[in-house]
Amino acid sequence: MTIRFYDSATSTIRDFQPVHPGEARIYYCGATVQGAPHIGHIRSGLVFDQLARWLSYRGLKVTTVRNVTDIDDKILVNSASSYEDSYTGDHPREEWWALAYRFEKIFGQAYAALNIAPPTYEPRATGHIPEMFALIQRLIDRGYAYPALDDSGDVYFDVRSWPQYGSLTHQSIDDMQDAPDADPRGKRDPRDFALWKGYKQGEPETASWVSPWGKGRPGWHLECSAMAGKYLGETFDIHGGGLDLRFPHHENEMAQSQVAGYGFANFWMHNGLVTYEGEKMSKSIGNTVSPEDMLAAARPLAVRYYLGQAHYRSVLDYRPTSLDEARVAVERIEAFLAKTQSYHSASSVVPAAFAEAMDDDLGIPQALAVLHEKVKAGNAALVAGSSAETEASEVYAMAKVLGLVELMNFGGSADTGGEHAALDSLIQTMLAQRTEARAAKDWAKADEIRDALAAAGLTIKDGTSGSTWSLG
Ligand SMILES: [Zn+2]
Repeated sequence: MTIRFYDSATSTIRDFQPVHPGEARIYYCGATVQGAPHIGHIRSGLVFDQLARWLSYRGLKVTTVRNVTDIDDKILVNSASSYEDSYTGDHPREEWWALAYRFEKIFGQAYAALNIAPPTYEPRATGHIPEMFALIQRLIDRGYAYPALDDSGDVYFDVRSWPQYGSLTHQSIDDMQDAPDADPRGKRDPRDFALWKGYKQGEPETASWVSPWGKGRPGWHLECSAMAGKYLGETFDIHGGGLDLRFPHHENEMAQSQVAGYGFANFWMHNGLVTYEGEKMSKSIGNTVSPEDMLAAARPLAVRYYLGQAHYRSVLDYRPTSLDEARVAVERIEAFLAKTQSYHSASSVVPAAFAEAMDDDLGIPQALAVLHEKVKAGNAALVAGSSAETEASEVYAMAKVLGLVELMNFGGSADTGGEHAALDSLIQTMLAQRTEARAAKDWAKADEIRDALAAAGLTIKDGTSGSTWSLG
C-alpha cells in the first residue's frame, strides 16, 4: 500500500510518509466567523473530512485541527451594525464576540448536517494569545520580525529577511502584491505583513490584549502557525485549505513557522473552489449558494454526495440541476443497501480498485465509479436470485468510508427518504427485469414492464450508464 498526494508546495505527487509512524496529523484552515458559510467553506470541510476518514480506514491514527478565527477586522466591522435577534425580534448591536459565537454555531450546524466529523481539536484564536506572544518574540529574536517604525504598535514580519519567501506559491517577492493590513509607512517593505495589530481608537477595548509590544490583537496568519505548532508539533504531515488561501495566508504561515525553526507541513493540499454555472460565486453578482439553500432543496445525503463527488483539486461547478442528479445517483446506492442490510458489517472491506483510487491522491471520481459498478452488479445478482452478499458488504464499506451511510435511510416510511428508497428499489428491480427480457428478445415481457411503469406515472430514461426514473 502506497498512499500518494499532490503537494502544492512542490507541484508534484509524492508518496505519503508519516512524520510519526502510524499517524497522520492534519491542520486545515477553518472559518473566519464573520458571517454565514457559503458552500465553498463547506466543500473544504468535507474534502478534509474525506481525507481523514480514508487515512483512518488505512489504519493511521489521525489527528485533525481546524481553527476558528474569532477575532478579525471584518468581525469588528460587522458587529458594529445591528442584526435581528431570533428570540426577541429586536435589532440590537452585537458584541464582536457574540457575533463570532453566533456564526461559529451556524458553521457547526452545517458541518453536522452533512456528517462532516468534528476535528480532533477546534481551537479559537482568542484562546491562544500566549502561544502567539511566544512565536512573535521568537521571530523578533531571530531577526525575522520587528515592531512598526511608526507608533502604531504593530509588529511585522520582514519578508526580505527570508530568501525563500514566496516559495510555497512559486513567486518572487518583486512580483507580489503589498500586504494591505496596515499603513506602509510603518513597514520596511510594503509586503511585510502584520503579526500583531496595535489597538486603534474606536475599537472595542475587549478586542485587545496587553502584549510586550503594546495593546492590540493578533494578525490572521500568525494564529494558524501558533495553533498548528501547539496541537500537532513542530513538523506535521498535511496542511490543507481552499485554493484561495494559498496566498498570502499559507505563504505567510509557512514563512513564520519555518524561520522559527520548525519543519511545519510536509504536504500542502488545496481544494478547488465552487463556481455557479462557470462563474465565480460572489455576493456582488448575487449568485452565492449557502448550505442552507442546498439543504432546503435536497436531503443532506444528496448534498454531501454532490459536494464530495468531484476530485478535490478540481473546480466544482454548481448548476440548478446538480442536486437532483446527485440525489438520483446516491439514492441508487441507498436503495441497494436497503435491500441487503443483513450483509452490512463493521468489518466489511472496500474492493482493491476502490482503495487504489483513494490512495492515489484521493481519487474520489474513480472510487465512485467502482462503487456504482458494484451496485449494478449487486442488483443484477439479486434479479438472478443470488444473495449479492459480496457486493452488499463492499458497497456498505465504501459508502461508510465516504461518510454517506449515516445519512442514509434503510427502511420505514417515517420520512420521504425511506419511501423514495423503497420505491427506487422496486423500480430498479423492474428495470433490471426489463433489461433481461430485452436481452432474451422477449419483447412482449419488456413492453409489459414498461407499460406497468408508465401506468404508475413513472417516466423512464435510458442512458449509457443505465436507466433513471422520475415521477410524471
Ligand atoms: Zn490558516
